[in-house]
Amino acid sequence: MMARFRFGDEVVKGEVEGRSIISGGKEYDLEEVELLAPSEPSKVVCVGLNYVEHAKELKMDLPSEPIIFLKPPTAVIGSGADIVMPPSSSQVDYEGELAVVIKERCRNVPAEKADDYILGYANFNDVTARDLQRRDGQWTRAKSFDTFAPMGPFVVGADPSALKIQTRVNGSVRQSSSTSDLIFPVQELIEFVSEIMTLLPGDVIATGTPPGVGSLEAGDVVEVEIEGLGTLKNGVVKS
Ligand code: MG
Repeated sequence: MMARFRFGDEVVKGEVEGRSIISGGKEYDLEEVELLAPSEPSKVVCVGLNYVEHAKELKMDLPSEPIIFLKPPTAVIGSGADIVMPPSSSQVDYEGELAVVIKERCRNVPAEKADDYILGYANFNDVTARDLQRRDGQWTRAKSFDTFAPMGPFVVGADPSALKIQTRVNGSVRQSSSTSDLIFPVQELIEFVSEIMTLLPGDVIATGTPPGVGSLEAGDVVEVEIEGLGTLKNGVVKS
C-alpha cells in the first residue's frame, strides 16, 4: 500500500504500515501528514458506461467497445482535499470508481499480460459538471475542472475482479455495487487503451461508475470506499 504525502516542504512517497508511513528508514504518522494523490499521472483515462445498471439509468445502449475520454492531470487531488464547484455549473455530480495505476511504460499490451504493467488500484471520483456535459455534447469541459479527479488515499495491490464499491454523501449510501459488474474488466481496458496511446508510470485508468450517480452541494462530504483500498474522502466547496 503506497502513499504520497507532504511533510513540511517535502513531498515523500512511502509504504503504509498500520497507522504509519515508512520512507527511507523514517516513520511518519499517517494522521500527521497531508496526503497527496498517490500517483502523478501524465494522463487520466476514464471509461464511460462500464456498468450495465449505470447505462440503464442514463437510458443509453450498452457499448460494444469501451467509450473513453481524458481528464487532465491538473484535475487530480488527493483524499482530504476539497472539490471546488465552478461558477459555470449548477449540477456537479459524484461518480465513485475503481482506478488502475500503471507501473511501467507500455504500448499494445494484450489483456493476458496486463497484470505485469499494473502498479495497483486506487479509489477515484470522476466528478462531472452534468449540466455542461449535456450542453456541450462532448465531455472535455464537464470533466476537466481543477479538483474534478479526486484519487486515493493509497495505491494498493488487489484482485480487482469482485471488490465492493460504495459512494456516500454526508454518510448516506448513494452507490453500492461490485467491480464484478464491470462490462469491460481492467485487463481488457489496458489492452484497449494501450493500443491507442503509450501508457506511462503513474498513469490512471478510471474504470467507470456504477448506478446511483447524483449531485453534490457546497458543504457536502463525499466518500468513495472500495473493499481493501480504504476510503477517498473529499469536502465540497464553492469557488
Ligand atoms: Mg465516470
